[in-house]
Amino acid sequence: MTPLADLIQGRILSGGPISLAEYMADCLLHPDHGYYATREPFGREGDFVTAPEISQMFGEVLGLCLAQYWLDLGSPSPFTLAECGPGRGTLMADILRATARIPGFHAGAEILLVEASARLREVQEKTLAGHQLRWADRVQDLPEQPLFLVANEFFDALPIRQFTRKGGAWAETMVGLSEGRLAPGLFPVGALAALEHFSKAREGDIIEICPAAAPVMAEIAGRIIRHKGLALILDYGGWQSLGDTFQALSRHGYTDPFEAPGEADLTAHVDFGALALAARPARAAYTTQGALLTALGIGTRAQQLAAHPAAARNDPLAAARRLTDPAEMGSLFKALAIYPCNTAAPAGFFTGSDDTGARDDA
Ligand code: SAH
Repeated sequence: MTPLADLIQGRILSGGPISLAEYMADCLLHPDHGYYATREPFGREGDFVTAPEISQMFGEVLGLCLAQYWLDLGSPSPFTLAECGPGRGTLMADILRATARIPGFHAGAEILLVEASARLREVQEKTLAGHQLRWADRVQDLPEQPLFLVANEFFDALPIRQFTRKGGAWAETMVGLSEGRLAPGLFPVGALAALEHFSKAREGDIIEICPAAAPVMAEIAGRIIRHKGLALILDYGGWQSLGDTFQALSRHGYTDPFEAPGEADLTAHVDFGALALAARPARAAYTTQGALLTALGIGTRAQQLAAHPAAARNDPLAAARRLTDPAEMGSLFKALAIYPCNTAAPAGFFTGSDDTGARDDA
């Protein structure tokens, strides 16, 4: 049994079953035994590979998208250049390299990394050596000034609660004990405001709610509304939560999320519609990762790099395909832009208005 399993079992024995959100928060971020506190999840040797670790082109084209929007908004300075959940710092390093020659961009940028893991902060400091950096525990600590922000595979790590429609009512998945082991079970719940919006749910439907996501999004959007800016959010998920997407990844394969808490990465699909709603009245534009990167010119960049193989970390044509092909990461991963009212959508997002089908139901 992992040390964390011991702790969680003790808590359940004294206080009863805990919500999936509580379980997920402990597994990922417990300061001594949590996954991000203790493990090196990224890369071939780790548990999963993220887009910036696949190719430098991901950060390069997103960096240019941010910088173009900054220019379009009149080059506000100073501004915050922020990333939520920077992992190894690779994405921010690629953004900074790609934008180095844009006059005034680096001079005006105050780089701020929102990172919960002390261990990963050290890795980020090494990756981004030579840049002046600040860290924040929470988005609430972002300065009140123009904000240009990226978040890749950040929201999927925020804890979720999961509900199943059963016998005409909702039951919540809670983590309890069965034969001395951690196990999920369904427990009836009373009226919950967040569930009222899923009135069309049918027997057996499963929905997931990420209580932390909307407040995080609202903090980011608030700064964009008050001071201008742009947030680019990339992750796997869809426009509306439906189905059980709670999963554990270890060594590039799926595993039982209750088997070894703290030793596997736990995630759930991101509900982008709920994020767009939380960002109002800031505008939202939504597309797939594949469509965005293609529109931002990843294909041309891949060919450039292929002509100068020494400049690339790996085969650029294969990497571009992996990031954009619908059969690989191109469709499952989505991109959401949050930008100011009365302003055109950023490059790569083909919408100038709130025509994402924004919903009123969450
Ligand atoms: N963006 C990176 C890493 C994704 S993994 C990449 O694409 O490679 C998720 C990251 O979010 C890690 O850096 C993790 O430590 C951080 N994280 C997870 N939950 C967090 C929270 N609640 N607050 C701040 N950072 C968090």
